[in-house]
Amino acid sequence: MTAFKTLDDLDPRGKRVLVRVDLNVPMENGHVTDSTRIERIIPTIKDLTERGGKVILLAHFGRPKGRDLKESLKPVAAALAHELKKHVAFADDCIGEPAEKAVAALKDGEVLCLENTRFHAGEEKNDPAFVSELAKLGDAYVNDAFSAAHRAHATTEGLAHKLPAFAGRTMQAELEALDKALGKPKKPVIAIVGGAKVSTKLDLLGNLVSKVDGLVIGGGMANTFLNAQGHNVGKSLCEKDLAETARDIMRKAEAARCAIILPVDGAVAYHFQANAPFQNFGVEAMPHDGMILDVGPHSVERIKAAIHDAATIVWNGPLGAFELAGFDKGTVEIAREVAARTKAGKTISVAGGGDTVAALNHAGVTHDFSYVSTAGGAFLEWMEGKVLPGVAALSV
Ligand code: AMP
Repeated sequence: MTAFKTLDDLDPRGKRVLVRVDLNVPMENGHVTDSTRIERIIPTIKDLTERGGKVILLAHFGRPKGRDLKESLKPVAAALAHELKKHVAFADDCIGEPAEKAVAALKDGEVLCLENTRFHAGEEKNDPAFVSELAKLGDAYVNDAFSAAHRAHATTEGLAHKLPAFAGRTMQAELEALDKALGKPKKPVIAIVGGAKVSTKLDLLGNLVSKVDGLVIGGGMANTFLNAQGHNVGKSLCEKDLAETARDIMRKAEAARCAIILPVDGAVAYHFQANAPFQNFGVEAMPHDGMILDVGPHSVERIKAAIHDAATIVWNGPLGAFELAGFDKGTVEIAREVAARTKAGKTISVAGGGDTVAALNHAGVTHDFSYVSTAGGAFLEWMEGKVLPGVAALSV
């Protein structure tokens, strides 16, 4: 893991600390509908304010093209104040006079949230002039937004080169958990990869086969592999044009001594809808007009056997169309098995990526995994073995 400074290396007393956080929360009618991301930044804010730092929050919200008050952070700052049980000041701009005045008014231990950084084109362009304007507002920079670390933007990357830079508590926890999972993991390591398509996860599969001891493939993407092996997958979601790519991944895995575990049966339905009637078929006997919407019971047993001795389990992507009632069984059973083995101290489990979090929530086991990352794109890029610019910029 790249070495980085943490809040333990920073004495924030009396300092203006610019803290990049993830406040890109889901909103409906001006109200935050899920405050998970807000909860995650609280340890860093408390750590700094309790030690007398002046906390200045930087974050983006949505994808505004220029200043657009529909994407203001003001209501999010109010939700943060509620969670924090503390006043959070707000400035109408993240640079210039409004920001400078608000920062000057801050006392030790207080919190200020600056307006959406993406109201300025310089944010995504990582424009040096914009970075300099921001840097004027602070004495130190803390990045607590792992979820935005795959982007080299002004507040995720540029600022780290302008001010003394530190990882926030959530960033630190995320990097330490990820390092345990793929950096220096306890072996054997088993990866579980599911989801809709192989095409969106080619780099991820390519990286994993060289790093893990076993790769369980489920979900729609398993159909592409089954088809590549010559099995009929009927009308299932399947990228037939990627058959050669799938065979290539299997060859790479064999060369790297990574076992590939594919479904041996599946729940087959004739309509892509909740509670559609279905029957389980072995992969040798799939009907031509059906769709595989979940891994079948024999596959679940095989996957359980595959993870039985795993010291580390990394998971991205559901094993079936889990949003549809009746086709969530494979994902739920395996999620519960991983959770039970984690609770029993037998494995370290790290999961992440958009739908994976929803699937684990659905299975009711999110809190029983060793670590669940809410970072979508950044988690995937990390699983792909890529260097995340926001993390690299923190390295000492
Ligand atoms: P991803 O974003 O690539 O992780 O894909 C997640 C989506 O894959 C979820 O919406 C699932 O419903 C879908 N999915 C998983 N398995 C299947 C399957 N066998 N057939 C169709 N869709 C699936």
